[in-house]
Amino acid sequence: MAKETHEFQAETKQLLELMIHSIYTNHEIFLRELISNASDAIDKVHFESLTNRDLLEGDDNFEIFLEPDKDAHTLTISDNGIGMSREEVIENIGTIAKSGTKAFMEQLKKAKEASENGESNTDKELIGQFGVGFYSAFMVAEKVTIETRKAGETQGTRWESTGDGSYSIEECEKEKRGTTITITLGKEFFGDASEENYTDTYKLESLVKKYSDYVRYPIKMNFTFEETPKDDDGKEIEGAEKVKRVELRTLNSMQPLWTKNKSEIKDEEYDEFFKNQFHEWEKPMEVFHTHAEGSVEYTALLAIPAHAPFNLYHTDYEPGVQLYSRHVFIMDKCKDLLPDYLRFMKGLVDSPDLSLNISRELLQQSRELKTIGKALEKNILKALGRKMKNKREDYEKFWNEFGKSLKIGVYGSVYSGMDTINNLKDLLLFMSSKEGKLVSLKEYVERMPESQKKIYYATAKDKQTIEQLPQMETLRDKGIEVLYLLDPVDELCIEALREYEGKQFHSISRGDLDLDDAESQEVKKETEDIQKKNDDLMKDIKEALGEKVADVKVSARLKSSAVCLVADEAGPSLSMEQTFADMNN
Ligand code: ADP
Ligand code: MG
Repeated sequence: MAKETHEFQAETKQLLELMIHSIYTNHEIFLRELISNASDAIDKVHFESLTNRDLLEGDDNFEIFLEPDKDAHTLTISDNGIGMSREEVIENIGTIAKSGTKAFMEQLKKAKEASENGESNTDKELIGQFGVGFYSAFMVAEKVTIETRKAGETQGTRWESTGDGSYSIEECEKEKRGTTITITLGKEFFGDASEENYTDTYKLESLVKKYSDYVRYPIKMNFTFEETPKDDDGKEIEGAEKVKRVELRTLNSMQPLWTKNKSEIKDEEYDEFFKNQFHEWEKPMEVFHTHAEGSVEYTALLAIPAHAPFNLYHTDYEPGVQLYSRHVFIMDKCKDLLPDYLRFMKGLVDSPDLSLNISRELLQQSRELKTIGKALEKNILKALGRKMKNKREDYEKFWNEFGKSLKIGVYGSVYSGMDTINNLKDLLLFMSSKEGKLVSLKEYVERMPESQKKIYYATAKDKQTIEQLPQMETLRDKGIEVLYLLDPVDELCIEALREYEGKQFHSISRGDLDLDDAESQEVKKETEDIQKKNDDLMKDIKEALGEKVADVKVSARLKSSAVCLVADEAGPSLSMEQTFADMNN
């Protein structure tokens, strides 16, 4: 096939534009991104070779190779990973599919505007933490060339771009499987005078140590030394001409972070790890690093991210953690390990008890995986419980990001069973009429007056709407706390719970408020009398309103308002009706 030129997708162009001309100063992370791609590619061929040995073509020395060339001003990064077919190159390199990329671009634009307006650049630091993938190469490159051959195929592909809106693609010869990326460095990024000289072996070594130390495959580079030859006693021979000596070194320690002793790991190492391996932009909110030996042995390194991804509840979000067996990568997104309500968790599990020799489908249903999943779920819930108790502010931060997941989890108990309710009911928070703060059900029940038998809630889109409900007046006067359900999922959650510690939930806009104190009893009786006496009037009003209402009653729940609308005891609540109506529009 002849050489072709293709235009980048519009978004890709935009990203490249920003990459090249941005104020983004943390250029060096391009190396971490390319090494992480190389490592991912080796993971893939490594795993597939377990069932298809031929893919390796006799080469199972997995490695990543760095080759700076001072004279040509290039840096080459090669791997013997899975490689890419022509179609895959076009698909993976020419388009932006990653959900985070869009958000990244928005941040980048914001920071650029801020700096143009002379504002402080705190955003700049934030952006310094983003994982931006392959395109980051263009921060230091004048031109990027990819030569790649997919394992098991014979035809190689060359891709090339200067980042100016288009790229070329053509066939090429490639003896070894895998990918070789050559960066022709921009003029600020080579030469001894440059502070960012990416042809300098020591600079590259220090970057690998900083960002990619635990990559599980050796990252190798040749170091060249000019030396005066030595005599047998190890003394330099005077007047002898210098000779070149080349030494191949492995730059990374290759010890996976999760196999290290917890006490030896610095917080920054965890942070860097999650940014690097899981494309997190900010350091995680909380890290769980556990090792267990028992019926099943495993190590887990999991984290609650700093923020919920914007698509967490969309179908295109792929939950799940990575699986490894004795540090060999098995799969990327195992969604059957943790329950769906923990879909926001990131991280990995490494267990010698996970079998490499069964299909991923069977593995996901294996007893070992279930045992590990249950244990981890328990740990995470316990940790959340402790956070709620001891670090309320942090817990509310967590809740604001991920509370919805837990609420959906409770709602999902219709399918997953009572266990889920029991696990989650004490982790829930709701907005309350008391001081406008978040409360747990336990806190609500603990401060209920003795005469109060039910947990009252109100549903609406916002607080103001609830506070203006005529029913609120009575409850406010009686000092009764009301939960504000402001998200439709809150109500679904409450309905799935049905009760908490024997106390039923009661919507204040549904039927009788059923207050049990003496005063209310009396008012109730009075109201019934009035109702009886005014039976005819009620009938008349009902007839006049016709099908618009189900019934007309005298009410004890009003103070200054003349009438109020209430929902039927059994029917959907008013806000649910509103939600359904919105959905149909
Ligand atoms: P991400 O790694 O998050 O998927 P990148 O922009 O870093 O995003 O890479 C995009 C895609 O290009 C990868 O998902 C992979 O399919 C492909 N790719 C990049 N580098 C390599 C490589 N060295 N070997 C094989 N495929 C690669
Ligand atoms: Mg990547």
